[in-house]
Amino acid sequence: MVQQNEDLEEKKLLGSGGYVLAKLTEQEELRASLGIPQIFLANVDRLNEDRFLRYFCKKCGKEYLGSPLIRFENPNEKLGEGVILIEKGEYKCRICDNIIALYRKFNR
Ligand SMILES: [Zn+2]
Repeated sequence: MVQQNEDLEEKKLLGSGGYVLAKLTEQEELRASLGIPQIFLANVDRLNEDRFLRYFCKKCGKEYLGSPLIRFENPNEKLGEGVILIEKGEYKCRICDNIIALYRKFNR
């Protein structure tokens, strides 16, 4: 969880169906960027809606204020060799249902 005194920075996170502008901690940014300048939404654990400022939907060709729709489930699916799929989710456009990005969270 984010500590209250931690600095949040506004960042652009890319997805296959658009991008979002969201506030990230430095830790989250490091984890998501994998050492390259672009940050991918799929590499960040689920962000709370209040972290999003705007998002852009490629299908609509428009930018919207606020967060995309966030849908997720917790299948706790065993994938073998001790790897468990803890959570899978998607960020979707509120207007047209286009998927902005998908993410998967594993136990390691
Ligand atoms: Zn859309």
